[in-house]
Amino acid sequence: MSTDARYARLFEPVQIGPKTAKNRFYQVPHCNGMGRNFPSSMARMRGIKAEGGWAVVCTEQCDYHWTSDSVREIRLWDDQDIPMLARMVGEVHEHGALASLQLVHMGYYGRNLYSRESSMSPSGRPPGTDFPGYARTMDKQDIANLRRWHRNAALRGKKAGYDIIMVYAGHDISLPFHFLSRRHNQRNDEYGGSMENRARLLRELIEETKEAVGDTCGVSVRLAVDELMGESGLTCDREGRDIIEMLGELPDLWDVNCSDWSNDSVTARFAEEGFQEDYTGFVKQLTSKPVVGVGRYTSPDRMAALIKRGVLDMIGAARPSIADPFLPNKIQEGRIEEICECIGCNICVGYSNNSVPIRCTQNPTMGEEWRRGWHPEHIPPRGTDDKILIVGAGPAGLEAARVLGKRGYDVVLAEAEREPGGRVTREAKLPGLASWSRVRDFRTYQISQMANVNLYLESRLGIDEVFASECSMVAIAIGAEWRRDGVGRAARDPVPGLAAMAVYTPDDVMAGAEIEGPVVVYDDDHYYMGGIIAEQLRAKGLEVTLVTPGAVVSSWTDYTLEQGRIQAGLHEIGVEIIPLHSLHQAQAGGVTLSYAYTGAVQEVAAASLVLVTALQPNEALYEMLLNRQREWADHGIQRITAIGDCFGSGTIAHAVWSGHKFARTLGAPEYERDEVPFRRENMEIAGT
Ligand code: ADP
Ligand code: SF4
Repeated sequence: MSTDARYARLFEPVQIGPKTAKNRFYQVPHCNGMGRNFPSSMARMRGIKAEGGWAVVCTEQCDYHWTSDSVREIRLWDDQDIPMLARMVGEVHEHGALASLQLVHMGYYGRNLYSRESSMSPSGRPPGTDFPGYARTMDKQDIANLRRWHRNAALRGKKAGYDIIMVYAGHDISLPFHFLSRRHNQRNDEYGGSMENRARLLRELIEETKEAVGDTCGVSVRLAVDELMGESGLTCDREGRDIIEMLGELPDLWDVNCSDWSNDSVTARFAEEGFQEDYTGFVKQLTSKPVVGVGRYTSPDRMAALIKRGVLDMIGAARPSIADPFLPNKIQEGRIEEICECIGCNICVGYSNNSVPIRCTQNPTMGEEWRRGWHPEHIPPRGTDDKILIVGAGPAGLEAARVLGKRGYDVVLAEAEREPGGRVTREAKLPGLASWSRVRDFRTYQISQMANVNLYLESRLGIDEVFASECSMVAIAIGAEWRRDGVGRAARDPVPGLAAMAVYTPDDVMAGAEIEGPVVVYDDDHYYMGGIIAEQLRAKGLEVTLVTPGAVVSSWTDYTLEQGRIQAGLHEIGVEIIPLHSLHQAQAGGVTLSYAYTGAVQEVAAASLVLVTALQPNEALYEMLLNRQREWADHGIQRITAIGDCFGSGTIAHAVWSGHKFARTLGAPEYERDEVPFRRENMEIAGT
């Protein structure tokens, strides 16, 4: 298929100093939890982006000195680190893309847990994390050292084969940015005071990098031009603008965004596609150099318009490239309907923040490219003649059907409800979660194109129907339900007294139950559901109190960069929050809570209680089928398995991955074999 004329401009080459990017798709840096601990996984993941058509593929944060030691990201402290990075460059070059290196010194944000060095800042201050310590003031020698380290790292980057070396002043976690910021820089020498002085270090780093490697490498700058904190920070109409005005022509490319990371990578719940344009849109007017910007862009029309309107020269993307590494190729080949759009959930960020290989709700192959050999576009053809029945068309069932269909299997997908999608169809109706439906829509479209996959709606199957299906393989994917008994992290046994009041679960709220206020929402789940149910009920005008044993609301969303916004939002709409309390008991007219540290109890009056404590797998059907295993053969059934939330409930990402794994490995059930089902990156034992 050929490129739609509307999108042709997205495939024009862009000059970046001495290098030419083959099109306008630029994968900006993104952490991935692999880094120096899982370098083969990291390299293959980047290579697949290049294969998918991204003209520039950046690394994640690369620590270039041990006074800024993130432990989990990649590093380039000396020549010993070059081979690891060269491996990534090789994978990227293999597909004709440019490899870009993000050189980072975190300044006062560096925890330096491995190197044990003190962190540094323009003007001494407590660290940016909760670690004990102090970031010492940099003297002139420190600044000279930093410039030398940066220059040496750029030279090593060139030696590793990188095409573009990035000087990083993005977000609030880089030393050059700290020098730019009035908040962090109170120096009274030539590196402090006026904007020109505060920009001196950044100017020197750009000039010195160009001088060191500019003959063969492009030199880019990543800069946060607005911190979204008004006059306390850089803003796009004042200092952010001043910097571009001053340094506009120095680098070969500007990669501009908003700071901090929670603003740059804001979730779909809190911002729409393209939200950064208001802040970064001015940059192109002030420089002749190419400008890259981000905004969770997945719509090719939107992308083409950005180029046409002269807002950007290259479409920057982290999350859209994670959800669909082949996004550029799909646009180029006219396969727009096949784009797997990012849903803006930040599961990718959440797991990277847990220092484990990245995963993605939409793309179950993310992080599995090297260790399991999973490719997002290529799936081995079927290896057996099985006909497969999948019971339940939620994320797990839909993904299993999609992948099995692609492999060429005959698939029957039976869904009890009138609509497919399971939990994503339900949850997409909650405030801010409309994009969850993309999980369903991407898969139902693909399935609709396959003659060998048949989806039957309003088909609730029981044992008899499974036995009558004439399928040799059966996957039960009937999901999970929220518990009604209060059992969660805090309570191991059912909470007493629940029969005395009106008790609901998120399933009831999503099904439209009429709930009387005042209502207590008890969140012992700690991810997004508790906070969002409170928001939904408050929006209906009910008096809402959110109680949680956690110290903060929706504590796991700290990893997905949402916690601050969630708690602030609940305060704003008038939800009362009682943290550090568990549900002791319920009684007519209210609940009794118990304080986490002393056990002291307090009563809260309420007409209704919504329990958000745990998603319990729907195990009954699978268990009944297992109990009648002797009858399987009579019905031509060889194997029955459970996948997704009904096997082990969790995130939507987990359900999709579970469905994908089943469909890839069909015929080779992992748990029945003894070997580890994926490659591991064993550390070399160095020296003696
Ligand atoms: P997962 O996240 O594992 O995909 P979901 O709960 O999102 O799980 O989806 C499970 C789907 O299974 C729901 O759409 C539900 O309506 C459907 N379902 C539940 N029981 C049956 C059944 N007995 N027969 C067919 N479909 C079922
Ligand atoms: Fe997008 Fe969510 Fe995937 Fe991250 S995990 S890339 S936010 S769909």
